[in-house]
Amino acid sequence: MTANYQVKRFPNLVEQMSNEDIRELENRLRKDYVKVDFEMGSSNGFLGCGESLVEVIERDKKTLLELGLTYKGIATTLGMGISLGKTRGFNQSCPWGDNYPSDNSMMVYKDPKTGLSMVYSFLMPHLIGTHHFFEGDTPYRIGPRDFARVIGKIK
Ligand SMILES: [Zn+2]
Repeated sequence: MTANYQVKRFPNLVEQMSNEDIRELENRLRKDYVKVDFEMGSSNGFLGCGESLVEVIERDKKTLLELGLTYKGIATTLGMGISLGKTRGFNQSCPWGDNYPSDNSMMVYKDPKTGLSMVYSFLMPHLIGTHHFFEGDTPYRIGPRDFARVIGKIK
């Protein structure tokens, strides 16, 4: 199913967005947006109800710096995960409205050193690497600390 209107494309990073862009994108990231656009929205949302996109991104940026990790490094590692196959009957597009290939697969990455693994959506490496977004308070969030634990950087 494809949206029959022009999808607005947002700048990659919140630092490049106007306040209006941020409000619009936040709206697209909420759970209810799936009723407006099935492909662009997510039934679980990318952001919790009362959460601010800027606050979530700022908080994760601080954590990332504390842990000595980088967006690119995490995105590259998660990109090496393997697909668990398609889980839902539609393709999930990037909410930023860029032309990142849409998919709905879940992925799994198992760390060779710790033996720990994490499961995440196909979009996750792209959201982290390109948009510096780990998702908000949602079931699919993989935060910097979750990642650091799996790779054995923290306990
Ligand atoms: Zn994107």
